[in-house]
Amino acid sequence: MTVLTKLQCQNCSAQLDRSDAHEKTLKCKYCGSTYQLETPGDADSSEDLTRLVPKTELRAIKPDNLDVDKRPGSLKVTRKWRKRGSFILLAMAIVWLLVIFNQLIETWLEGANASILFLLVFVAVGGLLLYRALSEIFNQSTLSISKQSVQLKTKPFTWKGDFNHPLNKIKYFEILPPPGPSISPSTRVFRICAITSDDMRLTLLHKINNPGHAIYLLREINELTKKQ
Ligand SMILES: [Zn+2]
Repeated sequence: MTVLTKLQCQNCSAQLDRSDAHEKTLKCKYCGSTYQLETPGDADSSEDLTRLVPKTELRAIKPDNLDVDKRPGSLKVTRKWRKRGSFILLAMAIVWLLVIFNQLIETWLEGANASILFLLVFVAVGGLLLYRALSEIFNQSTLSISKQSVQLKTKPFTWKGDFNHPLNKIKYFEILPPPGPSISPSTRVFRICAITSDDMRLTLLHKINNPGHAIYLLREINELTKKQ
């Protein structure tokens, strides 16, 4: 009898489940790839002769819009993003500061020192607005995965989705929704999640609009962490 112990998804490196030994079509529950098991001959054929033939055309593609830094024992994925409306805030901050500075110069020329102190408060407010606007334009999220932990950090302000989770408390990683041939890949947006031991779902990367990118990232994460 043929015992297949190492059926691995070619896209994401996850273990492929085979509930029934006679099952010929296998679907990866993490990335959605499907495979056809081809065993030449009959029941006597050995494991070496069994081939896993991909049925779906989903392929791993290295994302070009993300900075992927692969090192032995660690993986770092950096995404730069900006909030919608941040340029409006920036324009407001600049106009605010220009008006206040203009007022400040006039007041200084008139020699009204008490008014200058008052105006400096407005300068401070303008400065805060400017800082806020710039930080919303230059956001950067970094996902760091090592053998110990999975960490998501956002600079310069901490994002509400940031976390630092020990790797041994993570059951597996997956792509949501699982990319499949049934729905056109171009219309879908994917995210990569980690399922924790207490069944919490952590979003590691979101707004991935290419299934190939999602598969590439999931494969790299699975390779590094050996989670399946
Ligand atoms: Zn897979």
